[in-house]
Amino acid sequence: MKPAKRVVMLADCQSFYASVEKAEHPEYKDRPLVVAGDPERRSGIVLAACPIAKAKGITTAERLGEALAKCPDVVVIKPRMQRYIDVSMQITEIYKSYTDLVEPYSIDEQFLDVTGSLHLYGCTPEELARMIQAHVKDATGVHTRFGISETKILAKTACDNYAKKSASGIYTLPKENLAETLWKLPVNHMFMAGSRMTRHFNVMGLPTIGSVAQTPLPKLKQMMRRKFGKNSDIQAELYWRIANGIDDSPVRPGTHQVDPKSVGHMMTLPRDYGRLEEIKVVLLELTELVCQRCRGLGFMGHVVTVGCMGADFDRPTGFSRQMKMEDPSNITNQVYRWACRLLEKYWDGLPIRRVGVSLSQLTPDTEYQLSLFDMGREKSMALERVTDALKRKYGDGIVIRAVSKTEAGQALDRSAKIGGHFK
Ligand SMILES: [Mg+2]
Repeated sequence: MKPAKRVVMLADCQSFYASVEKAEHPEYKDRPLVVAGDPERRSGIVLAACPIAKAKGITTAERLGEALAKCPDVVVIKPRMQRYIDVSMQITEIYKSYTDLVEPYSIDEQFLDVTGSLHLYGCTPEELARMIQAHVKDATGVHTRFGISETKILAKTACDNYAKKSASGIYTLPKENLAETLWKLPVNHMFMAGSRMTRHFNVMGLPTIGSVAQTPLPKLKQMMRRKFGKNSDIQAELYWRIANGIDDSPVRPGTHQVDPKSVGHMMTLPRDYGRLEEIKVVLLELTELVCQRCRGLGFMGHVVTVGCMGADFDRPTGFSRQMKMEDPSNITNQVYRWACRLLEKYWDGLPIRRVGVSLSQLTPDTEYQLSLFDMGREKSMALERVTDALKRKYGDGIVIRAVSKTEAGQALDRSAKIGGHFK
């Protein structure tokens, strides 16, 4: 018996960070809003912009100063990674109520294999997508878009190229129709084709996805070998398969593994981050999460590891390096300093998509021998413990970290703004 055709969806959250903030601040519903690193400085980077802000010309990754010039009344909010991770997991749970097969792809994108669920609900894939879309919107206020097809890569392609541009946010890309749809698109729209690979395809006389798909594989291998040497066969086959919609990789339910030897947090960003300052914003947030978890578990770590990975298949980039701190720590500011050192030393300047921070060589923080020369340290540990307790009780907004040490008086000024938000 021929196995049933799979129905795979890629569900994407629109302007994710900004949508989460809007849902939690109904007073900003009709206002342009951006999430930006370090809102106190005009040089901060826009990490996410809501659709109203985008309509005013604001784009992600531009400097806050540029955004303010385009739209002086934009609401600026500090990123809260923990909150975004929580909402992302809440959305995963919603998806899981429709199918067991949910695989998080990034913080704002997840794959769903709903082949089995359709019988259960007795509806079409589009109807099911509409149901899930309404459910997520209801529960979180976030608008989701669904690309539907029979493979993960086609579902992702359907979402990026069609669903995001359609009014309903739902688009089905049947594999039979690739010649009239996907193949007509320029080659830079192909999944995994970065800017460099796109250039090479164009030089090779393959300007569309269809032209790659229709080149016989042995010929494509030959063409790529001329350019990249004899080790490029695998790459040629990969692109050829992508262009032809061939992909049998299953939707793998995410398993969140816990390594007792280290406490870490890794996240996939909603897009490439190419500027040091914006990577640092995420790095700080992740360091905060890791240190908070360590403090909750009663551990300190001696070794800090920072990992970054690029998104381009044809331009593999990234690093994972560690450093041993002078002393074990679970204090955010201290660990962050070392994390920044690692980033500044090993980052090659190419855009990255995944960032991770972890602490290892853990020791219980109760066993820490208080150094006579380091009384300040015990004070900051006590302070952070209080901070954590407050946050647990009243939510993350209760305590606002000063991202960079600025002049005194800044704190006062900041506390005047509700929840640290600019108006
Ligand atoms: Mg998105």
